[in-house]
Amino acid sequence: MSARSYLDWNATAPMREEAKAAFTAAVSRVGNPSSVHAEGRAARALIETAREQVAALVGAQPGNVVFTASGTEANMLALMPAIETADEKRPRSRLFLSAIEHVSVRAGGRFPREGIDELPVCPDGRLDLAALTAAIANTPRPLVSLMFANNETGIVQPVAEAAAIVHAAGGLIHVDAVQAAGRIPCDITALGADLLTLSAHKIGGAKGAGALIRAREDIHFPEPLVRGGSQERGLRAGTENVAGIAAFGAAAVAARVGRDGEAAHMSRLRNELEVGLLAVTPDATVFGRETGERLPNTTLFAVAGIKAETAVIAFDLEGVAVSSGAACSSGKVQPSHVLAAMGVSAPLQRGALRVSLGWNSTEADVEKFLSAWRKLASALSKGRQGIAA
Ligand code: PLP
Repeated sequence: MSARSYLDWNATAPMREEAKAAFTAAVSRVGNPSSVHAEGRAARALIETAREQVAALVGAQPGNVVFTASGTEANMLALMPAIETADEKRPRSRLFLSAIEHVSVRAGGRFPREGIDELPVCPDGRLDLAALTAAIANTPRPLVSLMFANNETGIVQPVAEAAAIVHAAGGLIHVDAVQAAGRIPCDITALGADLLTLSAHKIGGAKGAGALIRAREDIHFPEPLVRGGSQERGLRAGTENVAGIAAFGAAAVAARVGRDGEAAHMSRLRNELEVGLLAVTPDATVFGRETGERLPNTTLFAVAGIKAETAVIAFDLEGVAVSSGAACSSGKVQPSHVLAAMGVSAPLQRGALRVSLGWNSTEADVEKFLSAWRKLASALSKGRQGIAA
């Protein structure tokens, strides 16, 4: 059994060997992709190969992939009122977000605060489609953003159904597929997405690369994300992160080729983990376990009276890396907006722990988690008496 078990893959995945090889090869070469000489052309070739590889992961055309420095940047680029299509040049009047989006979508891109509406989810954690239909009914040219799978619960959203509703209302739909890509089938056409976000470090690439992918050539951004040079068709100026992008491409290939096998592996381990967890603490709530499709790697659970921040530290001391449901970038644990939107009680929101597996997680990792939980659950539960859920 390894010294530590890393079970926080939704925060970031380790780099895949293929990605490390591509990164190392790229970083050892000189050459600016904008230069016309041989060194520059070689760097450009690495980027264009990666563009094809990333496009293939989601069934898109390479020319419709815009590389960014993160999923966050891709979301920022996508959420722009001025976005145009061949037959609609007028600005998008309002942005509609599901209540469970990642903070990088909740920030609303370049929409003013008063131009953003939040859409409710049902208690099962999926977007309320009736509410979507009603909300956009009288809005000309709505832009809707709906994630494919939630980063806390792993619950898969009804994206294709939402896309049909949005298109019938003359709108566009952006899909944050950062957590779904490489774990479940993620085809931009089948989803009906107009725009789709990916992040390299969630699929085994390096941190510092992401992509916004358009479904069609005619979707046009009149304003860049970063002004300056003409990199990425002028949408994101700045010399490209060649090594990060090359690694992104290699990770995309591995994620596409290995997806079904990896998903089956993760799902089997996740099931063992949940069965073991419920055997130790039968009163634990595993969010989304009973109610619908989840990512194969994610378990979000809570036990009334156990605080997430205490449990995360206790797991860490036992050599197991997990996170609180609402891990936040400042390191502070805040009640989960996702669970709040699902109507989960405040104490359970505060207690939610996320365990997320990956392609090289092992039985030993699950066993290490469970033995830590056997020890911790009773210790942590000593202070539970009298605490209401
Ligand atoms: N969207 C979702 C659903 C995420 O989980 C994350 C990261 O956790 C992001 C976007 C942001 O991606 P990045 O870390 O590349 O900025």
